[in-house]
Amino acid sequence: MALPERDLFPPQKICMAWQQRRSVGGGLCNLGNTCFLNSVLQCLTYTPPLANYLLSHEHSRSCKEQGFCMMCTMEGHIEEVLSCSGSAIEPTLVVNALPRIGEHFQLGAQEDAHEFFCYAVDAMQRACLSRSSDWDTSCQASTVIHQVFGGFLRSRVTCLSCQAVSDTYEAFLAIPLDIKAASSLTGALEDFVKPEQLDGENGYKCSKCEQLAAASKRLTIHRSSNVLTLCLKRFDAFSGRKINKVVRYPEYLDLGAYMSEVAGEAPLYSLYAVLVHEGSGCQTGHYYCFVKASDGCWYEMNDDSVVLCDIKTVLRQRAYLLFYARRE
Ligand SMILES: [Zn+2]
Ligand SMILES: [Zn+2]
Repeated sequence: MALPERDLFPPQKICMAWQQRRSVGGGLCNLGNTCFLNSVLQCLTYTPPLANYLLSHEHSRSCKEQGFCMMCTMEGHIEEVLSCSGSAIEPTLVVNALPRIGEHFQLGAQEDAHEFFCYAVDAMQRACLSRSSDWDTSCQASTVIHQVFGGFLRSRVTCLSCQAVSDTYEAFLAIPLDIKAASSLTGALEDFVKPEQLDGENGYKCSKCEQLAAASKRLTIHRSSNVLTLCLKRFDAFSGRKINKVVRYPEYLDLGAYMSEVAGEAPLYSLYAVLVHEGSGCQTGHYYCFVKASDGCWYEMNDDSVVLCDIKTVLRQRAYLLFYARRE
């Protein structure tokens, strides 16, 4: 796809720093295997640019949707959970909307938190596009949701016979990372951008020299996102087994080495949420998370419990999802 030429939402209106400082919000009661949803909701609630936008009520003031709207639902949820510091709420707004977020989600069943994250973000994206279904795909990648979570990957294929280069771009809202060979996040990112050789059966038909030639393919982050969501692929789709090893991750992340090119200073990120899975399979076990609230402190959010903790504890987890925000 092409990179978007106009923006549905002006990027300069994205505000990365908390606009309101409040005490940490409440916990979320478990309504029967809803920890996958609770932990994702807490990570979304403490995503500053998303929360700033929703708490401004800019969306609901102009929303004309008569039926289900995920943006209005999230606005209501975030408002509610941030107003109940010291106690807990039932996340009924989102739980009741579960079949509309993804039809295969079943109430009472444990689901994969990464999958729920993708569906929840996608449902917010659909809500942003509800009045503009005729926008082309590149333009769709410029809603407020894309301006918060989205970026672009570049896939560059270089023909090894004539050195011709062919680039394609793909929008992303989260980046899944293979961790089979890596013991750290930076190692997994290095593997992600490592060139892959295309030859033999995967041969490449070069459009310049018109030969079936060997080629090299490399993925890079072309346009980095304001919020970088990384999923450490702990669940092997084939064996169903979980990769439970420790993968180290930093509080501050420099993305420069994984970008197509860096004009000026490389984007720097700071960690603001970590989602953890405990147990042997993604549809069993327990999910909880750690978030940094607008007071600058870290909290462990485990269903209805909210407990102050320190960054050392946060960095010691066997993380499943990592959330980083671009530093200004
Ligand atoms: Zn709405
Ligand atoms: Zn060629």
